[in-house]
Amino acid sequence: MGYVIIEITHEEVILNLINRERLFESLLEQKKKWFMRYVEKKDKCWLWKGKKDKYGYAKSRVIKLTWHAHRASYFLFKEDIPKGMCVCHKCDMPSCVNPEHLFLGTQKENVRDMIKKGRKPIGENHPSRKNPDYLKRGSNHWKSNLTEKQVEKIKSYEGGYGIGRRLAKRFKVSPQTISNIRNGKIWKHV
Ligand SMILES: [Zn+2]
Repeated sequence: MGYVIIEITHEEVILNLINRERLFESLLEQKKKWFMRYVEKKDKCWLWKGKKDKYGYAKSRVIKLTWHAHRASYFLFKEDIPKGMCVCHKCDMPSCVNPEHLFLGTQKENVRDMIKKGRKPIGENHPSRKNPDYLKRGSNHWKSNLTEKQVEKIKSYEGGYGIGRRLAKRFKVSPQTISNIRNGKIWKHV
């Protein structure tokens, strides 16, 4: 055994460059064990204790980069996910990663399923409806290139000649944006 794949990327899995057969059995077991460290079994669901996205879907870095944990679970415990297929939930727990509660579906089925369960971010379920500030605030804003940390930094600098332009250059935003931040017109919550 001269060659062991230590880490594989989501892209490789998506492109089907890596499949379970190509992952050494021992490595697969190791990945499963690692995955289970983040799982809390509750009733019949396996709840993800790790990170979740804003819709409550679990995120994992099991396989190098961020991947929805239920997809990772399906891959690790069941089978390869064919290109373009979604992994859907049979249960109503977006954060559930129990492979027995997951099934393969097409994009269409997945969207239908999400709407049925009220998870698709449209209409009343769109985050902007639930939280009207959503579109205006911070790094959630789809146009925002800044993180809250960066804004904190921008605010922390003392004033002075040319500071706006210097900060604009450094954070790759317009001087107007810097001025708005420092004057508290935007990013008020930071
Ligand atoms: Zn479940």
